[in-house]
Amino acid sequence: MAKPGKYSLWNNDIIETDKATVAITSSAVLYGLSVYSVFFAKYREDGLLGFRVPEHITRIKQSAKIIGLNHTEEFLNKEVFLKNIHKLIEVNKPTSDQFFRLTIHATEILPGVRTTDLELALSVFMYEAKNILPQDKARLKTSLWRRTADTAIPARAKVNGAYVNSALAKQDALDSGVDDCLFLNQNGYVSELSAANIFMVKRGVLVTPDPASDILEGITRRSIIEIAKRNKIKVVERKVALTELYASDEVFACGTSAFVSPITQIDQRTIGTGVAGEMTMFLKEILRNEQKDKNSDWVTIL
Ligand code: PMP
Repeated sequence: MAKPGKYSLWNNDIIETDKATVAITSSAVLYGLSVYSVFFAKYREDGLLGFRVPEHITRIKQSAKIIGLNHTEEFLNKEVFLKNIHKLIEVNKPTSDQFFRLTIHATEILPGVRTTDLELALSVFMYEAKNILPQDKARLKTSLWRRTADTAIPARAKVNGAYVNSALAKQDALDSGVDDCLFLNQNGYVSELSAANIFMVKRGVLVTPDPASDILEGITRRSIIEIAKRNKIKVVERKVALTELYASDEVFACGTSAFVSPITQIDQRTIGTGVAGEMTMFLKEILRNEQKDKNSDWVTIL
């Protein structure tokens, strides 16, 4: 289990993590009505390098907007946020790579089942960054649980309560002795993993489920697409059938906490040659270099 830093951010204050609590009577607790995002920061002795931090701020606001939590525009001002993160790092004094989890909680007390004009609070805690999937050969199982449809709880919004769907499928995968689930959507097409996006490589082309396949449009997914295009690799976003994955040359998962994880087995079928593929490792290496390059456009020195 990851251990959070001793101090966390609560709105604009730095407080002890144990004291940062949400009321049992709040919508956040009653209905899982909160939205979140997690960004990665590479540890260097002269400071932490945050990866695509502005995109995470934008995404959490969009998640709020999609489900109707309002008044978040001024709530998460980038300059103020970065100053607060700086203070948080100063008090926690990390000595390793970190994840920062920011959450907008609906702290309103007993409002009934609704989402607009609610009182909100922001929390940020940090913890040591460890990969959630094995880095060399992760195994998946197609889940009996389907991805929540865009017309039910949109996967595009990172809503805390929606992660019951991910937890059900991940637990089922763990109970079956594999590393993670593979979600199909209600239409039977490939969607994503419990907390990562998926790509396959077929005859040199990179293919990934499109944004209408009930996925979270991951910031790592977008980075991989941009890196591939920069390197003249053809990328196609479209519907993907499960059996296409079985017959592909390479499969990998990606996400903030999954980084780029080669998938070597799905439903007991060996993918490609059964070891991490060449294109997977190429993209993984470039992402890793971007994350530790303080001159990268994607990096904010925190
Ligand atoms: N899908 C889901 C369901 C996730 O929870 C995550 C992790 N945030 C991702 C995909 C990957 O998104 P990102 O690259 O922005 O971390």
